[in-house]
Amino acid sequence: MEKKVILVTGGSGLIGKAIQTVIESEKELRDEKWIFLSSRDGDLCDFDSTKAIFEKHKPTHVIHLAAMVGGLFHNMSHNLDFFRKNMHMNDNILQISHELGVKKVVSCLSTCIFPDKTTYPIDETMVHNGPPHSSNFGYSYAKRMIDVENRAYHQQHGNLFTSVIPCNVFGPHDNFNLESSHVIPGLIRKLFDIIQAGGDTFTVLGSGKPLRQFIYSLDLAKLFIWVLREYNEVDPIILSVDEEAEVSIKDLAMELVQAFDFKGKIVYDTTKADGQYKKTASNQKLRRYLPDFEFTPFSKAIKDTVEWYKENHENARN
Ligand code: NAP
Ligand code: GDP
Repeated sequence: MEKKVILVTGGSGLIGKAIQTVIESEKELRDEKWIFLSSRDGDLCDFDSTKAIFEKHKPTHVIHLAAMVGGLFHNMSHNLDFFRKNMHMNDNILQISHELGVKKVVSCLSTCIFPDKTTYPIDETMVHNGPPHSSNFGYSYAKRMIDVENRAYHQQHGNLFTSVIPCNVFGPHDNFNLESSHVIPGLIRKLFDIIQAGGDTFTVLGSGKPLRQFIYSLDLAKLFIWVLREYNEVDPIILSVDEEAEVSIKDLAMELVQAFDFKGKIVYDTTKADGQYKKTASNQKLRRYLPDFEFTPFSKAIKDTVEWYKENHENARN
């Protein structure tokens, strides 16, 4: 069999690092060469530098993770940047993959791009069924266009370009910057700083009531690798924990307090936005393929991430 050359865009990010960790821990030898890119290898918003990267590495397969990514508050203030940067990157990757004969591209959507007004649970057939939540419409529409392009490349040229739809991801190597982070790394950073400063009040933004499904990056990495090797539909597949594993932001705050052994009080700043109340997604399609896949228990994944941050905070993305 021909050797696979797998190019991972966004290889230095949360999910890219997790895929690298899983690949490096695999015992079975496979005829695969993995290349993990960061933005230092070139700006994927630029067509010519993207093409130069592809011509250098000659990938047969691509996992496309690179994106402008951020939490609720960063999205609310930068909808235009989220739309344009992601549109450019995604279009460049797919067109160049087509031009250079890449056999398969797996791109990344998100459960936060689904329609705001919807029925639950959300499934893969509902991506385009109505406007996304107003807080992140730039990111959402750019991501939805990946699915549009995947279908169009398939229809017009027969390409196998597909996508996965993860729920909210967390783990080592996340972005812990308070301005732009998602809720888990944001609250880990905040609690770490409060404890360092000897503070006794942990302020969580919003009401604490919204519900979220969270997936540990190392679990998602295993699923991504399975999709690359085994999943051959153009239609997207949701990669999420089970519906029963959904937790409130309040539950999350309590888990973090336990993981840090914080003895102070939790306060909810209800002047700050809650975002979408819930985005409960069904992983039934995934379960049909992988009925026995075991997700890391939430408490353990949170504890491991907190430990990672304590050990690596000086070099983490802060
Ligand atoms: P991340 O940690 O923020 O990493 C983003 C990656 O993209 C980094 O490797 C970054 O490179 C690269 N990148 C950004 N702009 C670039 C550019 N102009 N040119 C080249 N590379 C660029 O993101 P992540 O959380 O791993 O997310 C990966 C994918 O999963 C994204 O497509 C995201 O939309 C999707 N996703 C994420 C979540 C989540 O909760 N995090 C949930 C659902 C879906 P540098 O490190 O060099 O900056
Ligand atoms: P989302 O899941 O796409 O909405 O994005 P986030 O990961 O940013 O989660 C947002 C939810 O967490 C909202 O309900 C916020 O009100 C809540 N939240 C509480 N504290 C924080 C925080 O410090 N940062 C962020 N990003 N969200 C927070």
